[in-house]
Formats: sequence, structure tokens, C-alpha cells
Amino acid sequence: MPSSTKSFKVFINYNYCKNCGICSWICPVNAIIEESFGKPVVPDHEKCTGCLQCERMCPDFAINVIEINS
Ligand code: SF4
Ligand code: SF4
Repeated sequence: MPSSTKSFKVFINYNYCKNCGICSWICPVNAIIEESFGKPVVPDHEKCTGCLQCERMCPDFAINVIEINS
């Protein structure tokens, strides 16, 4: 389990994103969900545990997960 003092923010570069759906499919906590036309969005960044699976799996290097010190 990640430390409760850590929080994360998920940045998606829509200039690179091809709406493939891998990130929302792989996210274990459903922090990334698909909007209309498969566009990935993160409505609640607090859900993100910082596992980085989305960042690693995105074929277009469109995701950047940043740890925010609180
Ligand atoms: S995995 Fe990457 S390219 Fe695919 S929907 Fe997510 S951000 Fe877009
Ligand atoms: S880092 Fe992990 S928990 Fe956070 S959005 Fe990506 S896949 Fe989901």
C-alpha cells in the first residue's frame, strides 16, 4: 500500500493520446475512465495510487504521473 501522505496527479497529453483505452483498462483503481469517443479522463486524482501502470503501458507516451508532496 502506498503511504497515505503521498498523492499523485495524472497528466494526459492529448496531443499524443490516440484514445486506445489501454490506460483506463489497466488502471487498477479506475482513476482513469473513458469519456465520450474513448477519451481518457481523470475526474478524481485522489484515487490514483501512483502505480505507474498507465504511464508504462501507454503506447504513445502520453501519460505522466507526478507525485505531489502533501
Ligand atoms: S493508453 Fe495512452 S494513448 Fe491510450 S488512451 Fe491512454 S493516454 Fe491515450
Ligand atoms: S498511476 Fe496507477 S492508479 Fe494512477 S492512474 Fe495510473 S494506473 Fe491508475
